[in-house]
Amino acid sequence: MDISVVIPLYNEEESLPELQAWIDRVMREHGFDYEAIYVDDGSTDGSWQVINSLREQYPQVRGISFRRNYGKSPALNVGFAKAQGNVVITMDADLQDSPDEIPELYRMITVDGYDLVSGYKKKRYDPLSKTIPTKLFNATARRVSGIKNLHDFNCGLKAYKQKVVKHIELGADMHRYIPYLAKLAGFGKIGEKVVHHQARKYGKTKFGLDRFVNGYLDLATLWFTGKFGKKPMHLFGLLGSLMFFLGFVAVIIVGALKLYNMHHGNHYTLVTNSPYFYLALTLMLLGSQLFLAGFIGELIVRNSTLRNHYEVEEEF
Ligand code: UDP
Ligand code: MG
Repeated sequence: MDISVVIPLYNEEESLPELQAWIDRVMREHGFDYEAIYVDDGSTDGSWQVINSLREQYPQVRGISFRRNYGKSPALNVGFAKAQGNVVITMDADLQDSPDEIPELYRMITVDGYDLVSGYKKKRYDPLSKTIPTKLFNATARRVSGIKNLHDFNCGLKAYKQKVVKHIELGADMHRYIPYLAKLAGFGKIGEKVVHHQARKYGKTKFGLDRFVNGYLDLATLWFTGKFGKKPMHLFGLLGSLMFFLGFVAVIIVGALKLYNMHHGNHYTLVTNSPYFYLALTLMLLGSQLFLAGFIGELIVRNSTLRNHYEVEEEF
């Protein structure tokens, strides 16, 4: 099979028939053998019934329905597990992404050899309250992930080699960072294609402004787990040792000053009268706490099943 289209959806009943007709038209025009996997993320409207009736009309339609709403990432995750096409394409269900982009995305994966191609909604039809934070968000994601050529990490329209989607594990809400996850899993050839974007025709957006707060927190998590997930001591041990060392030096200075003054008959007071004493105390306490966090982190890593998990590309 050439292409699996994975479509996560939550309450999108009005858009689905139009979307499927459009996908099918593009696929037939280009002679692609395809499947369209609709993952109903616990919709409370008639989306699942619509998917069922689409199945009668199009044998390429496959459906998965969650009992409740889990979120876009879990929906993509189960769609990825089911996908059989050589190229897997994800697309939002709300008709904001255009199926006309499919043939070129397919070509970039199969001919140009990209592991992943992300859409770039250069001209967006979204409210300003969304486009401006999005710019900031992408700039941060580029810096942290080191994927410098992407402008639109969270674009719903993306194409992958099949093995990429089978090897990344999408935790809750991590769909915003699939390119970063792919890179961490060793799929480094990541490209971008400018895609057409349309205003939402039916229904309304499922994400509020909290997406940006959560987005930043998730990025911090990924950066941390990607860099120190297997060696937490390298971060906590370094910070802890540094702080402890500074505190220790400060204690020596405070103590030495007092001894010096005592010895030379100068005026002297209790060490607890010096602000530096408290600074030193705090530094040493925090330093040992951080160090301990590193040890505990290492103990957790020891128990992790992923401890010795490495992606082998080829072997003979
Ligand atoms: N979606 C989903 N589960 C959710 C929220 C959204 O499957 O909990 C789907 C939604 O139906 C759509 C896609 O994810 O197909 C993108 O959502 P939306 O269009 O609301 O996001 P936006 O375009 O505003 O970024
Ligand atoms: Mg949308």
